[in-house]
Amino acid sequence: MKKMKTCMWLLLLLPAGAVWAAPNPDWTTPLAPFRIADNLYYVGSKDLASYLVVTPKGDILINSSLESSPALIQKSVEQLGFHFKDIKILLISHAHADHDAGSAEVKRLTGATYMVMDGDVAVVESGGAKDFAYPKDLYPATKVDRVLHDGDQVRLGGAVLVAHKTPGHTRGCTTWTMRALIGGHPRDVVIVGSWNVNPGFRLVDRPGKPASYPGIAADYERTFVVLKKLPCDVFLGAHGAYFDMLAKLDRAKAGAGESVWIDPDGYKAAVAERELAFEAELKRQQQGGS
Ligand SMILES: [Zn+2]
Repeated sequence: MKKMKTCMWLLLLLPAGAVWAAPNPDWTTPLAPFRIADNLYYVGSKDLASYLVVTPKGDILINSSLESSPALIQKSVEQLGFHFKDIKILLISHAHADHDAGSAEVKRLTGATYMVMDGDVAVVESGGAKDFAYPKDLYPATKVDRVLHDGDQVRLGGAVLVAHKTPGHTRGCTTWTMRALIGGHPRDVVIVGSWNVNPGFRLVDRPGKPASYPGIAADYERTFVVLKKLPCDVFLGAHGAYFDMLAKLDRAKAGAGESVWIDPDGYKAAVAERELAFEAELKRQQQGGS
């Protein structure tokens, strides 16, 4: 009860647009790292997802997370028996501080090449200052070494990740796909970048009240078209909550093993539910809701 009261106060004290940044304890609570597929591991916290793709030529890390997260991620990588310094490539889900604020530190510790989708580069390189929603949520500005475009491949030691531009949540929000083996069979993996319309996002252009950025609603619409077309066996995302990670992890530990991550129906249902939520919010704003 006391905990609930504290949370409510936090929400009341924050400006509407900053609700997402309310300190969620799951973002910084460690979680024992685990294997998802043959060369794909979870190295994030209880909710902020970071993934490690291990190859003979070095490793790929997706999401540096909060400015304070690299130490937690490094510990998880080492707990699995891998070396943090083997990370050669750093990728992100999108340019919000809960996924990219640790990037300067990860680059400093590993020398990794930082690859970011075109629409998010300016935000990353300004340390968040150029973000349309949270320009005051600042973190160390980080140089991008390779600018990615929709459909680009990231290759290392036999691993191939494809960058799908799924904008709206940010201009360069990226959904990553790859193939990985579970139970000896190749599976299509989807790591959703984000599909959420955050509090304070303006989808509709009005005189004196412009959209969060020109074309944001059309971007979301295209994003749902893309997400519905992606073949998906293994359903993952930028937050564990997107794909019900903690409940699936309990089932994995109870004996179901890595098969719990195979959830094509869960993916389809989640995309459909988020699309309905977007459409409802768009309609609400079109009808004059602020
Ligand atoms: Zn975000």
